[in-house]
Amino acid sequence: MPRAPARPTKGDPHAPPTPEPPRFPAQLSPRRRRPGRSPPRSARYLSSEDGFTYEITKTAEQWRAQLGDHDYEILRRGGTEIPKSSPFWSQVAEGTYACKGCALPLYEGKWQVVLEKGWVFFRHGIANAILMGVDWPEGSDMTPEQAALAAVEAHCRRCGGHLGHIVMIENQLLHCINGASLTLTPPPG
Ligand SMILES: [Zn+2]
Repeated sequence: MPRAPARPTKGDPHAPPTPEPPRFPAQLSPRRRRPGRSPPRSARYLSSEDGFTYEITKTAEQWRAQLGDHDYEILRRGGTEIPKSSPFWSQVAEGTYACKGCALPLYEGKWQVVLEKGWVFFRHGIANAILMGVDWPEGSDMTPEQAALAAVEAHCRRCGGHLGHIVMIENQLLHCINGASLTLTPPPG
């Protein structure tokens, strides 16, 4: 294997090269890919390469039939909805939000935060409901550490459905969720 040319260093010529400072995306925000507008990206956490099995599994055809094309792109392909396209973004709802894929309760409406960004934001989720993964954009040269800072992805622990990302936004660390990934059940009574 040819070695990369050594970067010039001051002092000890055998010292390891100084690592370059990390480069971060200009904005820590969810990807704004519009479903159907660009090639869909396979969500890495859905891979079976590591042998992880979700409690609820279905074929791609079964998911698409259940969810429809739009919601399938988001929940099963890691897409991002157009901001303000969900009726949930502008309200602090009473009741409980559940996964549209498998109906697992994920967020209480009282934890919701309304931001003009136009997605559905929560301060935190219901215990044992949400898993996280590093969303590493295709073609990125980010290190895993940089990618983790840029995009921590949130998905349903029962069906693996993509929900959104956990981001620092307006000085708050929030779950930034696609409304298309959720259903809302009003409180009883
Ligand atoms: Zn689910």
